Amino acid sequence: MTRLRFCAAGLLLVLLMNSPPTGALPQHQPVPGGVAVIELPATCGERPQVRFRDRPVMVVAENERWFAVVGIPLSMAPGPASLSIDDPDGPALPLTFVITEFSYPEQRLTISNKRQVDPTADDLKRIAGDRREINQAFRSWDEEPVDTAFHLPAIGPRSSAFGLKRFFNEQPRSPHSGVDIAAVDKSDVVAPAAGVVVATGDYFFNGNTVLIHHGQGLVTMYCHMSEISVQDGDRLSAGDLIGKIGQTGRVTGPHLHWGISLNQVRVNPELFLVEPIPAQ
Ligand SMILES: [Zn+2]
Repeated sequence: MTRLRFCAAGLLLVLLMNSPPTGALPQHQPVPGGVAVIELPATCGERPQVRFRDRPVMVVAENERWFAVVGIPLSMAPGPASLSIDDPDGPALPLTFVITEFSYPEQRLTISNKRQVDPTADDLKRIAGDRREINQAFRSWDEEPVDTAFHLPAIGPRSSAFGLKRFFNEQPRSPHSGVDIAAVDKSDVVAPAAGVVVATGDYFFNGNTVLIHHGQGLVTMYCHMSEISVQDGDRLSAGDLIGKIGQTGRVTGPHLHWGISLNQVRVNPELFLVEPIPAQ
């Protein structure tokens, strides 16, 4: 018999009432590029340790129950998938969920700076360095409670949705890994929730960029800014200024590219918003 399955529910309730409030959960949309919100079996009150594809997964308390919040890669095929829940008394317990199908539309863009479509050898070296830095930020992890109820980081209509299959100058490229908000040039970009700045930089494709870790591997990314107002290690509250809208990096005009990474997987940021991005 495992401790995970047979702990008293009463004890769970008492312990969780002492936990800090976590806010609303993200939307459950178990598709490639989406987020699965999965209730976990009752435990003794300690936060269960969950893994997906061998990476630690965010676990939050809501209404006195535990939920795993799992980022699903865009490249993952629909069908059954499995989480593993650590059991201190035995082997990890599997928990199966189903990834459902979703079809993302195509988008064709014309980029006038040819180097941003066909980078030179020197550019490719810089791009590889950028990627290392960004991936390191995506690997951020702690065990703190997380506020997953996000407010809009910029004011403006959505100009490109997450997941679009992209063609730059008719050449196929990676799908759109975030959502674009067409805010006014030089207007404010703010933190959508509390977090810590884990990287800032001027990257080849992303331009002036800030990455914020909100806890438990939930990392947000802000690109193409005209200026950056924060530094690595800064602790932010929701609504704190992090920079200004701009058009640095690979862009067709001023906008914010906003990305979210969860368990090192890029997912649709709109699933975390408490208010929607206005349609264009
Ligand atoms: Zn974008």
